Amino acid sequence: MMYAEVHHVERLSPDVVRVVLTGGSLDQFQASDATDAYINAKFLPIDSPLQVPFEKEDLEGLAAEHRPRPRRFTIRNWDVQQQMLSIDFVAHGDAGYAGSWAQRAQPGDRLQFDGPGGSYQPSPSVDWHLLVGDESALGAIGASLQALESRDRALVFAVVEERGCEVDLPNPGAVSIQWLYRKEAPGDEAWVANALAATQFPEGTFDVFVHGEAAEVGAVRRQLADARGVDVSSASISPYWRRRHTDEEWRKVKRHWMAAQS
Ligand SMILES: Cc1cc2nc3c(=O)[nH]c(=O)nc-3n(C[C@H](O)[C@H](O)[C@H](O)COP(=O)(O)OP(=O)(O)OC[C@H]3O[C@@H](n4cnc5c(N)ncnc54)[C@H](O)[C@@H]3O)c2cc1C
Repeated sequence: MMYAEVHHVERLSPDVVRVVLTGGSLDQFQASDATDAYINAKFLPIDSPLQVPFEKEDLEGLAAEHRPRPRRFTIRNWDVQQQMLSIDFVAHGDAGYAGSWAQRAQPGDRLQFDGPGGSYQPSPSVDWHLLVGDESALGAIGASLQALESRDRALVFAVVEERGCEVDLPNPGAVSIQWLYRKEAPGDEAWVANALAATQFPEGTFDVFVHGEAAEVGAVRRQLADARGVDVSSASISPYWRRRHTDEEWRKVKRHWMAAQS
């Protein structure tokens, strides 16, 4: 278990807050090669008596409402020289623990976490890369684009709330980004999949990274399997969150939900 302190916070868009962490035990941080590397952070309810860093034993006898809430967050950037770890949080209002923590975060605030996990990296053996995600996946998409060379081609579908909510994404040279706006979408969960269906893909082989809201990810997965012949079982496709579910509620049903998609 590690912890770090907030160094500074940047507002990247009306809906995304970048929190840059430093210090604490970050000198022991073991970076991963995955561009979707994530930490499992523990967010404390506001009135929890716990203080970071805490040990497992400190949880003994602690009331349920005071216990830390585990949430996964992607490492947007790890600057090993400066020892700074950046995470881009969706600022989705007061509900929950993680997004609201990021919106309140001040220099010196502490966050405890373990990890990193992660498994995707743009494959060097394909002709181009397909990356699809909403705000929760823009950190991973940004880190993936940052890892490309100027000759590497990528097609990105990035979902945000409305015009003006776009986030700066790296473009080493041959990246095409199509922004999709929820407020302009029909109330249909397949709207992101429909945008893909309406797009002519570049020629050649491609790898796939699709993450974000469960229903939207599910529809994209079906579209890629049915219309593009993608082997979705070996692609990096999974839902990061589920509308109208807290992370605890979502984790309880996620496995079953995923099995029903296959
Ligand atoms: C591997 C992995 C990596 C992830 N990386 C990131 C990341 O880098 N940045 C990031 O912001 N999220 C990321 N997520 C998603 C994040 O863990 C969840 O969105 C989480 O539920 C947020 O916790 P919370 O405490 O803010 O809200 P919760 O307590 O889980 O939920 C409260 C309410 O907010 C809603 N909600 C949750 N997330 C969103 C959202 N994104 N937009 C709108 N409403 C929402 C829920 O449906 C619920 O109604 C990642 C998830 C995984 C599995």
